[in-house]
Amino acid sequence: MSITREAFGSDFAWGVSTAAYQIEGAHCTNGKGPSIWDVFANTKGKIVNNHNGNISCNFYDNYCRDLSLAYHLNIQNFRLSLSWSRIFPKGTGKVNRDGVDYYNRVIDFCNEIGIVPWITLYHWDLPNELEVKGGWTNRDIVNWFNEYVAFCIKTLGDRVTNWMVLNEPMVFTGAGYFLGIHAPGKKGLNNFLAAAHHAALAQASGLRIIKSEAPKCNAGTTFSTSYIEPFSQSENDIGAAFKVDALLNRFFLEPLLGLGYPLKDLKFLQRIEQFIKPNDEADLIAGSDFIGLQIYTREIVKYSPYIPLINAKIIKADQRNVDRTVMNWEVYPESMYHMLKKFSRYNAIKEIIVTENGAAFPDEILDGKVEDIKRTNYLRENIKQLLRAKNEGVNVNGYFVWTLMDNFEWQEGYTPRFGLVHVDFATHKRTIKSSGYWYQKFLTDSARDIPVHRSKIVTTI
Ligand code: BGC
Repeated sequence: MSITREAFGSDFAWGVSTAAYQIEGAHCTNGKGPSIWDVFANTKGKIVNNHNGNISCNFYDNYCRDLSLAYHLNIQNFRLSLSWSRIFPKGTGKVNRDGVDYYNRVIDFCNEIGIVPWITLYHWDLPNELEVKGGWTNRDIVNWFNEYVAFCIKTLGDRVTNWMVLNEPMVFTGAGYFLGIHAPGKKGLNNFLAAAHHAALAQASGLRIIKSEAPKCNAGTTFSTSYIEPFSQSENDIGAAFKVDALLNRFFLEPLLGLGYPLKDLKFLQRIEQFIKPNDEADLIAGSDFIGLQIYTREIVKYSPYIPLINAKIIKADQRNVDRTVMNWEVYPESMYHMLKKFSRYNAIKEIIVTENGAAFPDEILDGKVEDIKRTNYLRENIKQLLRAKNEGVNVNGYFVWTLMDNFEWQEGYTPRFGLVHVDFATHKRTIKSSGYWYQKFLTDSARDIPVHRSKIVTTI
């Protein structure tokens, strides 16, 4: 079965997603303050091959060229994040005008060439000055974050309609404050639960601020999701899968929707109550125009008495010998369908946007080309599953590929390549992969309905 863009309707938003630390580089340029990722990635032994995002794709200097590339691929929506410490080098207080000007230029360029910017306010790169004061474990972060959000909306809200508050709170609190494998490298249950509660308060207050400063804009926030299935039909495995689902898929969403934390289903979470103050329950709730879901894979869960707190373990794709990506994530496109159906059952969700979906494969340049058939298949099959859910009535109205070009993949460094465009990190040369050409064809230029200043477009890669 082939799919066409038309089947999704003319209002469906097609795009690509990126994040500041993963593409910008220019880590200490023009007044930018250090973020926790600058510090973490420049600490020996934290990142595979000791890679860091100091230069990365240098999108900071190349944004005209890279956005023009997106234009050539018929991509009409570009999700990017703002680096908080480029705008507020110390996190609060004095604003760095050069940083604001940079984002003004990027946004104006998007608008001039007919690409709609979708901004994520926080994609993990906390100003390091704030981490020195405890970062997400310090309740003051909610006020620091509110100041930053209000400033961004007031400054950019006249030209940006689509806003997302947080990128995947489960990942930056879990990996950053419980496991210690992401910045800032903290560990332990108390750090995690404090960080989680403050992130949940910030996601709600961020949404309220966006709506009060710019009532007409389209405001949402994003969540990591995984389709969870039990290893067997034993009571133990079904119970273990239920708990992992509560942690990975429900923990941050349900309080926002007014359902509270899933404390009954996940007993260890009850220790979060030590961080909850009077009125917090109401403050965790906020309305949003859409919910962003990042859908990549399926996890198979088995009961394990040896795993503390949750008594469950994930059986990774290589242990199951199934088709997988460089990240050891199973290629299982049906996850897209199941997750869309699952989240559509929450009445309070008005609209779903798939804010990330994509895959890392070992791409190689051969004769100047990258034939990444596996990525094309992955994207096509996921998009088919999205259509299946949409045709069954799920209100999903957008899809963003992760990602435009190969970039810094957090603790994995530059080895996993997720891009539609290959980046040679030594020369910074960009090469469109066959998956990029496939997406270009799928999107077709005829659907472009935004006025374009063609003279602005950069024609050389
Ligand atoms: C994140 C991205 C990341 C991608 C692939 C998502 O969890 O938002 O920053 O690069 O997945 O791992």
